[in-house]
Amino acid sequence: MARIAFGMSRFGSPAACKDCGGAFARSRFGVDFCGAKCRMRFNNRRTKRGGELYDLAMLNRFGDKEKGKLTKHVAALLDRWHAEDKRERSGRESWGELSYSEQRRLGVQ
Ligand SMILES: [Zn+2]
Repeated sequence: MARIAFGMSRFGSPAACKDCGGAFARSRFGVDFCGAKCRMRFNNRRTKRGGELYDLAMLNRFGDKEKGKLTKHVAALLDRWHAEDKRERSGRESWGELSYSEQRRLGVQ
């Protein structure tokens, strides 16, 4: 089951930045990054990885050569990203939490 965490943070409470891991005081409700640079880097990584996953899924569905190999390729991609996170982000999670409405839309409740 997906976790819901966005919106759980409190104003002014100490926190660790979701990108660099550095300590910061939340300036407002739901802030998870020490600054815009970290927020953009985190979101750009997700966007890039999402694009790779999209291409892989489309190739699996419609490409002759890769048809039906999605599970194997997705597992390899996730393993590569996980290793990259361990190496470059000290193992910090590189994904966001799903809001309640996102969970409903994706059917993962
Ligand atoms: Zn940061």
